[in-house]
Amino acid sequence: MKKEVISSLEKWYDSVNSPVARLRKTVEVIAKKVKDVPEWVVVLIAALISTRTKDDVTSDALKRLFEHLDYTFFNLDDMPLEEITQILKPVGFYRVKAKNLKKLVRTFSNEDVFSIKPDYDYLVSLSGVGRKVARIVLAFLGEGVLSVDTHVKRITERFAGREMKVEEIEEFWDNNPAINPMLVALGQLICTPRATNCSKCPISKWCTSSVTKLGR
Ligand code: SF4
Repeated sequence: MKKEVISSLEKWYDSVNSPVARLRKTVEVIAKKVKDVPEWVVVLIAALISTRTKDDVTSDALKRLFEHLDYTFFNLDDMPLEEITQILKPVGFYRVKAKNLKKLVRTFSNEDVFSIKPDYDYLVSLSGVGRKVARIVLAFLGEGVLSVDTHVKRITERFAGREMKVEEIEEFWDNNPAINPMLVALGQLICTPRATNCSKCPISKWCTSSVTKLGR
């Protein structure tokens, strides 16, 4: 059954224009333009900026930031904190995030960033990086890890019809990293925190909470 669910989600995800897909495209384009750090550093910055922030707001902030930096990450070192703060605004917690970016560029200035092989412990040792952000970067690097955010948690619990711990959700989806963008998109467009549009949902056939399936 899970294979069919994932296949249905994949087809749906490819057919819609979601904020999360737009953000991923933005990150991909920027990561290709930035040459002084590996792509995972750009993914890390995007993930740091994205916490508690809508994806389109993150996308715009990333574009502003890297245009100001002339697509050179280490230019951040010379940029005044207040300028970074203003560029990030209206991202959630933009002041804290600006400070974390400054700390990040300082950390990477003291290392040969291209020789770093980031693992979980290394990533969570960086300023502002928690489990969710670390797992986004690891997923980008091809590790089989699923990052569980509020959308993934809410939809999986609705789907399974019970409350679940983060670790259970990771296991439920076999730690498949591809689940994250698909459920985030579903959470943005169809299964939102306030309303469920089950008649348009690609996984309603299997969902425990489906209003359509229950005939309500
Ligand atoms: S069927 Fe309804 S409740 Fe279940 S995931 Fe889809 S929108 Fe959410």
